[in-house]
Amino acid sequence: KFNTNVGQHILKNPGVAEAIVQKANLKPSDVVLEVGPGTGNLTVRILEKAKKVIAVELDPRMAAEVTKRVQGKPEQKRLEVLLGDVIKTELPPFDVCISNTPYQISSPLVFKLLALPNPPRTSILMFQREFAMRLTARPGDALYCRLSVNAQFWAKITHIMKVGKNNFKPPPQVESSVVRIEPKMGTKRPGVSWDEWDGMLRICFVRKNRTMRASWLGTKEVLAMLERNYRVWCAMNNVAVDDTIIGEEDEMEVEDATGPPEEDEWGGIMDVDEEADETPAFFKEEAERIAKENGGKTKSKKKKTRVAELVREKIRKVLEDKTELADKRAGKCDENDFLKLLYAFNEEGIHFA
Ligand code: SAM
Repeated sequence: KFNTNVGQHILKNPGVAEAIVQKANLKPSDVVLEVGPGTGNLTVRILEKAKKVIAVELDPRMAAEVTKRVQGKPEQKRLEVLLGDVIKTELPPFDVCISNTPYQISSPLVFKLLALPNPPRTSILMFQREFAMRLTARPGDALYCRLSVNAQFWAKITHIMKVGKNNFKPPPQVESSVVRIEPKMGTKRPGVSWDEWDGMLRICFVRKNRTMRASWLGTKEVLAMLERNYRVWCAMNNVAVDDTIIGEEDEMEVEDATGPPEEDEWGGIMDVDEEADETPAFFKEEAERIAKENGGKTKSKKKKTRVAELVREKIRKVLEDKTELADKRAGKCDENDFLKLLYAFNEEGIHFA
């Protein structure tokens, strides 16, 4: 009767349900968003502690179940069930989010919550264990990735509890973990554009164990993309672009730029991590564009122009002189390194959005 295609794994251990709600430190005045109430095991417990629950549920049968559970009871008035996909739903204001999350929306849910104009004070979310480990990974950890940097850039994230698969009905394939997400607010919230920041991280993390020099200066697709972005920036800022041809591009090693990503980087998480296959796709696009410009020939040498040379020199300056990150690997960089890098690129007129 449960549809595991939409992540229906009902929490059957009341102790775990209690613990999740307790970890949210609810106040009697709180409005709580619950994602995927299912049959309402968490919902009824949240209703005991909070003023109101807004529950967003995709499956009409489940929406009916949770509604029935409070029917005729005083809490009925304090439960609002919205039928639909939480990612596509415009959310009314709320203070706290609690969710035994359907794992396929893990990544979009985290970023939807953090991008809200008034993000929830606390979110207590159950995730697949590996996703939780990625969210909380620190520089140098095996699971440190673009997701870790992005999420921790906007929020403080703590692992609060491991939950074995047998606490669910039916049991999922993998172990789970509960995490707490508290957004950084006010001055702690960095003043950079999300698209710029994420665009830069995409390039850094295509190969997190490569040096920055190799990631930025040793990949044809990256250089081509930055040149295109630089041209746009020049056009918008009335800066002349020098297209004089000054020779032919050097032969460049691009062998793995469009190949499958490194095993340890995405391994085993393709099904839950939305971003997992985006990076290779983005590289493929760039490779196709280059091929088109060369009349369909991927191997032919490209003419080297002054502007291409200039962009390359700007990148070198950013990596070697301004940030001294050329020999560092993305997998070892912390958020200050990335922030420094973004400022330095922007200063040189190089943008990612
Ligand atoms: N909260 C219940 C519990 O802990 O027992 C059920 C949790 S179950 C892991 C996930 C629930 O989310 C299911 O009821 C499923 O129908 C619902 N769901 C799946 N995808 C959803 C989406 N995109 N938006 C809202 N609800 C969704």
